[in-house]
Amino acid sequence: MTNTLYDALIAPHAQSERPFLDCDDGTTLTYGAFVRRVAQLAHVLADSGVTPGDRVVVQAPKVADAIALYGAAVQAGAVYLPLNTAYTQAELSYFIEDADPRVVVCDTKDQPAISELCAPISATVLTLGADGAGSLPDAADRAPDQFHTVARGPDDLAALLYTSGTTGRSKGAMLSHNNLLSNARALTDLWEITDQDRLIHALPIFHTHGLFVAMNTSLLAGAHVRFMAAFKPDAIIAEIPKSTLLMGVPTFYTRLLDDPRLARDLCEGMRLFVSGSAPLLAETHAAFSERTGHQILERYGMTETNMITSNPYNGDRIPGTVGYPLPGTEVIITDPETGAPLPAGEIGMIEVRGDNVFQGYRNMPEKTAEELRATGFFITGDLGIQTDDGRVSIVGRQKDLIISGGYNIYPKEIEDVVNDIDGVLESAVFGVPHADFGESVLAAVVLEQGADLGSDAIAAKVEPLLARFKHPRRYILTDALPRNTMGKVQKNVLRDAHKT
Ligand code: ATP
Ligand code: MG
Repeated sequence: MTNTLYDALIAPHAQSERPFLDCDDGTTLTYGAFVRRVAQLAHVLADSGVTPGDRVVVQAPKVADAIALYGAAVQAGAVYLPLNTAYTQAELSYFIEDADPRVVVCDTKDQPAISELCAPISATVLTLGADGAGSLPDAADRAPDQFHTVARGPDDLAALLYTSGTTGRSKGAMLSHNNLLSNARALTDLWEITDQDRLIHALPIFHTHGLFVAMNTSLLAGAHVRFMAAFKPDAIIAEIPKSTLLMGVPTFYTRLLDDPRLARDLCEGMRLFVSGSAPLLAETHAAFSERTGHQILERYGMTETNMITSNPYNGDRIPGTVGYPLPGTEVIITDPETGAPLPAGEIGMIEVRGDNVFQGYRNMPEKTAEELRATGFFITGDLGIQTDDGRVSIVGRQKDLIISGGYNIYPKEIEDVVNDIDGVLESAVFGVPHADFGESVLAAVVLEQGADLGSDAIAAKVEPLLARFKHPRRYILTDALPRNTMGKVQKNVLRDAHKT
């Protein structure tokens, strides 16, 4: 009986007593114990009526059983569907209706509300609390620790992962066993992850970054994982000397830089710092390398495609670029209007093809047909540029492109200029409707602590450096940019708040 993902990520560890997960409560789960727990949880799923292809929804705290449940869903032939723990009941009703799951695992405190939501579809509701207790672990404790793995092939679905909803309603990306495994293999090879590594895992496990990039590579390599429920700079600083790898979003790095304990000798044993999910500022890259001697490795990916490009492990990690297509992944830049490929050096739509590219959006055949070409290329919605030798830089999202007076304005170009001003911490440039020009340009700006800068002073610095049509009409000084849980700036929130 073969099961593509289980056979590669989990089965090989059955006899291993090496450490796998170091949890916040000080306990360590070995690989062998993990494999047995996966089997127990697979029994609970099967006993709840899960059959191959059924969705298993998980909106649970980040505890060891939540990740074992991912393995269990794979072993039971189900489709794992993790949900952002910040989603409200109203948001959950969309996901539950769309996904039509057989089992829903939720935090103990949410059980009454979730049971109500699930009544019409008669899904089984099980609980898993932040303390690790609940009806799911109770049932698993009573189950046998061997499970007859359900056969699944490379093209069968392993996960349904909803996009972050940064540009609109979240879409359910259907990911096959081979989509996930091929990407895990590419990243593990490229980043040279082995069983000698210890990863600091402080990302959420409901998103492609923390779940697939971090956990699938660790499982494939047999790496040791320090599994932290949340990102806390103090705790990360304490773990760095005992670890070799950190995967984070850009805000991890800016927050670590705020801590004077982050220094070269602290990071001596570290091998690699990875950043993704949102753009890493060149300043952050430079400040981190000056302080620690480590160049952060930035990579680019999305829910629908897993990872697409990465800066090299051996070679130049250039700030402001996301590196080269992963082995087995093709990237082309096309004219957003016509879809025709563009030559190197021209800004256009990033399109990607490879084993990593998803099978389509659940219940959205039209959207799938719009974005996934018959040739296999997926239209990412991100605008970028590629050098002759294939290195990719992201210019921004097509939806954030500002069109004013017939000109295309790329917010990032303006943000780079604003961010370079002494006293500016960061900025977000966006368009709002304008009666004459179609859209006009606004900039939200966050100042460094103690900086004494006004809008006029910022405008005076920006104006000589950019053509007039790119000048922001207004600078909005603010304490922080609106961000979602993955650290992505929500420009739609800014657009809504400032449209006049
Ligand atoms: P939605 O599709 O629902 O609007 P989303 O695109 O934010 O949400 P994700 O799939 O989580 O959902 O994020 C993928 C996007 O994140 C990419 O399309 C890209 O815009 C951005 N991204 C990821 N990595 C990077 C990076 N290194 N630099 C810049 N942007 C990045
Ligand atoms: Mg997207």
